[in-house]
Amino acid sequence: MAIEDPIVTGLNSGWAHINAGQLTSNQTFEADVVIVGSGAGGGTAAEILTNAGLSVIIVEGGPLKSSKDFVMEERSAYPDLYQQAAGMKTTDKAIGIFQGRAVGGSTTINWTTSIRTPDPALAYWASKKSVVGLSTDELTPWFKKMEQRLNISEWTFDPNRNNAALKEGCEQLGWDYTVIKRNVKGCWNTGYCGMGCPVNAKQSMLVTTIPAALEQGATLVSQAKVMKLEHHNDKIYALKAQALDSNMKPLPVEIVFKAKHYILAAGAIHTPTIMLRSKLPDPYEIIGKRTFLHPSLLSGAIFSDPINGHSGAPQSIYSDEFVWKNGVDGELGYKLEVPPIHPILIASKTIGYGQSHAELMANFNQLQVTIALVRDGYHENSPGGEVKLTDHGSTLDYPLTDAFWRAARRAYASMAELQFAAGANKVLPISEGMPYLNSWPEAKKAIAEMDLAPLKTVVASAHVMGGCPLGEDPKMSMVNSYGESHYFDNLSVMDGSIFPTSLGANPQLSIYGITARNATRLAEKLTAS
Ligand SMILES: Cc1cc2nc3c(=O)[nH]c(=O)nc-3n(C[C@H](O)[C@H](O)[C@H](O)COP(=O)(O)OP(=O)(O)OC[C@H]3O[C@@H](n4cnc5c(N)ncnc54)[C@H](O)[C@@H]3O)c2cc1C
Repeated sequence: MAIEDPIVTGLNSGWAHINAGQLTSNQTFEADVVIVGSGAGGGTAAEILTNAGLSVIIVEGGPLKSSKDFVMEERSAYPDLYQQAAGMKTTDKAIGIFQGRAVGGSTTINWTTSIRTPDPALAYWASKKSVVGLSTDELTPWFKKMEQRLNISEWTFDPNRNNAALKEGCEQLGWDYTVIKRNVKGCWNTGYCGMGCPVNAKQSMLVTTIPAALEQGATLVSQAKVMKLEHHNDKIYALKAQALDSNMKPLPVEIVFKAKHYILAAGAIHTPTIMLRSKLPDPYEIIGKRTFLHPSLLSGAIFSDPINGHSGAPQSIYSDEFVWKNGVDGELGYKLEVPPIHPILIASKTIGYGQSHAELMANFNQLQVTIALVRDGYHENSPGGEVKLTDHGSTLDYPLTDAFWRAARRAYASMAELQFAAGANKVLPISEGMPYLNSWPEAKKAIAEMDLAPLKTVVASAHVMGGCPLGEDPKMSMVNSYGESHYFDNLSVMDGSIFPTSLGANPQLSIYGITARNATRLAEKLTAS
């Protein structure tokens, strides 16, 4: 069956797409609104503002790729679609970070889990972070709108064996678990979401909101890295970008964008980076601070039967048994999920060298992996990380605190207990020096005594949040509860950077829903003026 490629079709029908890598001289573009970034926030805002009749330019640092480029191979997907070829790390290299860098942003490569912002997170923001108008009741219509737009619904196929182990472990132990809702339409259940959907079933921004905006006359400028905002008094008056070649190397071509309103949607590391580079006013030194990752621990388990974790929807079951167990701001909670298991992804996130690593990889098809995503940002000893400028760009400094390590030890124990309950033969907490553990009693003792440390314990994250928090009190926020700058009349932020804490849930639906609300209000304001 031929697979329709909406990008090729759209370009042939005359979409306004400019690949900045092909420009040979400096250029200036003008529109009502310029949006930086085309991911969850940028894509959602682009469609809503264009539908309201505004002229919109979307500026994206990454390339425009489509299903014809998604060949389900890690060796091309990571360099083509991920920031730093999926090798990004925090300053001390203790946490690996996955972020998208292509049209569609991280939504082009994400795993499709779609969860509304948990009630306790919203209540905490209202009571402690001066956020108004974002209660569960007020947001419900926006989540519904975006669930409808992106075809988000409960996964009705059986979970793959990797997810089924999570479910079976929870059933055996009487723990909470939930069937995941996914943003897919006509999904082939192949399991390669992280390499770009080869059949355009994933309802990412690449195949939904960005094409809809382009159909309505928006312009997309790809391979253009935004460097800074030019500002004077309370106005932004230009945005400057640098053209990038196909290897993402800078070209000597500068592009200037002028608009009535500017939206930063470059994600939770790069929105603060652009703000810092632009030297935006920041009297309370908030920009880039309190950046959160849901830092995640991994536990491997060897089963007798094939797990084949590369095959089938990557995430379809989660457990919230431990997320809020100790109260919102008590000991850190963790969400239990599984990741897809592909050779490079797993080889680079496991432990051992030479023989021991080869032995682990030899069991690849029998390997089940559970992950614990630690809910950071609520406990006083969980301030997250800080984005800082460097000579070459920016870095995320993210010290792992005692509170995190206490949560890590509890999480390893929960994961081992779960995996043995699901029938694992042996369990391997992914931290250097740990042997395979052969029973739950043996694991319980070993995990209580295990040595946990940065660079020794594998920590990873695909969720970046915060660094430009929303709220009404400028002492703790950069933008108001609608994402509008406290300092500039014509600047908004619409991406994962606006969260004052992590979410305790996978972020995409929170970004879609809150952006839909905020962009709708912005469209009303701009069309009224
Ligand atoms: C592998 C992976 C799996 C994930 N799985 C899930 C999941 O299953 N469920 C879920 O809810 N979440 C998941 N996430 C996270 C989710 O996709 C992100 O939280 C969400 O897409 C973030 O939206 P955003 O708008 O903040 O940024 P992004 O979607 O990351 O978009 C930001 C865009 O801005 C561009 N940009 C950055 N700097 C500049 C610049 N200077 N100039 C121009 N453009 C720039 C980037 O190239 C990027 O395209 C996953 C993420 C990854 C990487």
